[in-house]
Amino acid sequence: MQISNAEFYKSVYKYEDCPRLQQPEVAFSGRSNVGKSSLINRITRQKKLARTSNTPGRTQSLNYFNIDDKFYLVDLPGYGFANVPQKVKDDWAELIDTYLNYRENLIGVVQIIDSRHKPTKDDKMMVEWLQASGLSYLIVATKVDKISNNKKAKQKKLIYKELSLTREDNFTFFSAQSGEGSKDVYEYLDFLMQL
Ligand code: GDP
Repeated sequence: MQISNAEFYKSVYKYEDCPRLQQPEVAFSGRSNVGKSSLINRITRQKKLARTSNTPGRTQSLNYFNIDDKFYLVDLPGYGFANVPQKVKDDWAELIDTYLNYRENLIGVVQIIDSRHKPTKDDKMMVEWLQASGLSYLIVATKVDKISNNKKAKQKKLIYKELSLTREDNFTFFSAQSGEGSKDVYEYLDFLMQL
């Protein structure tokens, strides 16, 4: 897949406000600060399409991006940020939960984790949910430029173990800095578009 045109379409704060669209949707999920915006910007080759920030948890909406009129990339709110009131956390969880459970246009999820660390409790919860849902998903372990080649193999093992992944699962390392793994993300999007 080549992405030539990616445009912001709409932010959705309540599930009921999701747009009535024909095109399929691919959701991008991950904890705050994991590098989700950087990944989206990298694969769409735009510097500021998704807002990157060091203030995790700022985005509380589902952000819709129109990709070449072919599909919508839906940037889910980052989860797992500690210094957020419980009520706000609950609202995010409900929005993400409702979207993932009920959205008929949703054909796949790109689940982003940090390649340097053991997956968090929330990462595990997300992946367990994906595994139980039957939805297609790709696990992307980002910021791989920050670890050595030796450590990569070790981290992959740890991630597979912690998230109960098997050889059947789609997994790639990624770096928004070097572009490593972009090809795998494009291939996964191509695969989804053929479903
Ligand atoms: P988000 O909150 O998940 O959207 O995370 P951001 O994309 O805003 O990234 C959080 C921080 O990690 C920023 O300082 C980014 O520059 C940095 N970052 C994101 N991806 C990478 C990567 O692949 N490599 C490196 N070295 N830093 C990254």
